[in-house]
Amino acid sequence: AITELDLLDAVPAGLFINGQWLPATDGKTFDVEDPATGKVLMAIADASPEDGKAALDAAATAQEAWAKFTPRGRGEILRRAFELLTERAEQFALLMTLEMGKPLAEARGEVTYAAEFLRWFSEEAVRVSGRYSVSPDGKSRLLVAKKPVGPCLLITPWNFPLAMATRKVAPAVAAGCTMVLKPARLTPLTSMLFTALMQEAGLPAGVLNVIPSSSAGATTGPLIKDTRLRKLSFTGSTEVGRRLLSDASETVLRTSMELGGNAPFIVFEDADVDAAVTGAMLAKLRNMGEACTAANRFIVHSSVADEFTAKFAARMAAMTPARGTELESTIGPLIDEKSRDKVHGLVTEAVAAGASIVIGGTPVDGPGYFYQPTILKNVREGSRILSEEIFGPVAPITTFTSEDQAVRLANSTEYGLVAYVFTTDLNRGLRMGERLETGMLGLNAGVVSNAAAPFGGIKQSGLGREGGVEGIEEYLYTQYIGIADP
Ligand code: ADP
Repeated sequence: AITELDLLDAVPAGLFINGQWLPATDGKTFDVEDPATGKVLMAIADASPEDGKAALDAAATAQEAWAKFTPRGRGEILRRAFELLTERAEQFALLMTLEMGKPLAEARGEVTYAAEFLRWFSEEAVRVSGRYSVSPDGKSRLLVAKKPVGPCLLITPWNFPLAMATRKVAPAVAAGCTMVLKPARLTPLTSMLFTALMQEAGLPAGVLNVIPSSSAGATTGPLIKDTRLRKLSFTGSTEVGRRLLSDASETVLRTSMELGGNAPFIVFEDADVDAAVTGAMLAKLRNMGEACTAANRFIVHSSVADEFTAKFAARMAAMTPARGTELESTIGPLIDEKSRDKVHGLVTEAVAAGASIVIGGTPVDGPGYFYQPTILKNVREGSRILSEEIFGPVAPITTFTSEDQAVRLANSTEYGLVAYVFTTDLNRGLRMGERLETGMLGLNAGVVSNAAAPFGGIKQSGLGREGGVEGIEEYLYTQYIGIADP
């Protein structure tokens, strides 16, 4: 087994530009903390705007040769990366647990999920193709080709430090795009170790450049306005995404936006309640509730609400908050004090407005940013906790009596990422697919994430899709060549 210290020693602490690990030009570093203890794990280089520019210089210079690299060759690099990551799963899992807090078992799950993007896109790299056709009037030929969009800026969040990186890097590699990756300030270490792995897998210098930074806006802002950049792929909050979209409008930059969610979790009167509770545990407590796909509002038919709530509470009561490295840990800390304060603020406000606490409702004493798994019932319609992303282990329950009412409640949000529906009536399940305004639907399932599926939202949850056959399209543009009748 690897020790924490040996592991941290293996993490590169520099910026990665044009195939080299470098200190920041101004020599600055920033600290990365363990949210379970509040202690500093290590310091890493803090990219300045100048470093950001150097990273884009490298990506822009490498683009032409990289686009000509064979598709098979790009696929094989991804396949080797998949194999290396799978071999080193324990190392990556432990590193994520240390910097992000999730229990080791969940971190291992994320490594598997993250590796699947490398494998999936290693297979997609050789499947990019176009078409040749005769125009309707027979007077010309239409040749349609797909080409890499060019240098991409990839901005990732802290909640899934590895999977959010592979979900962007793998399709960009497969498509033949070069990249500047800006990992989240709170969890950059996993990206640094992953970058080293990509080099080992054979990625040429300049294709992937990585610039951790403590001031994201200052470092990436100038890149978004640089005409050499051709694509921005962002995962994070709707608030920041909106700002980046506005910046991107200046150069009409292509964007993919995976933003916030406010997932409804609907339990119908005909649901298998035990299956719904198992789904609820996953949809609510996976990643401590710190996921854009987390169930944010439980909308339960009044005839099964008591049974569902009691069983859900019993499962929550059995959870053990502890540092993710501890064997008994089933729920880790929240990412920082600010997040925990926000979660607790939403709970106290809902309670003040008349909701009652079934279980939990308070922060856990002691070091780290732990919060008790919490269920609230009788939550008033219009409460802030039902309209904002909670991003914590808190489940507000409301009830309904008709399908129309459930649909109205579920759709009454500006978000549209995912919904969860539990019913044993197949027609109702399909009908909900038609009626719910979301990019994804979990039907009797508490998790939908899959590298082979198109992940993404509608409304203010974002633009574009990641994963699936759709995922690589985000990194390709279409070129049409009109040819005279030969
Ligand atoms: P979250 O905190 O949920 O991850 P954020 O939207 O705050 O969501 O952050 C997502 C990513 O966007 C992080 O990598 C963060 O550093 C980055 N980010 C935050 N603000 C900006 C900004 N103004 N410009 C560019 N990137 C930003």
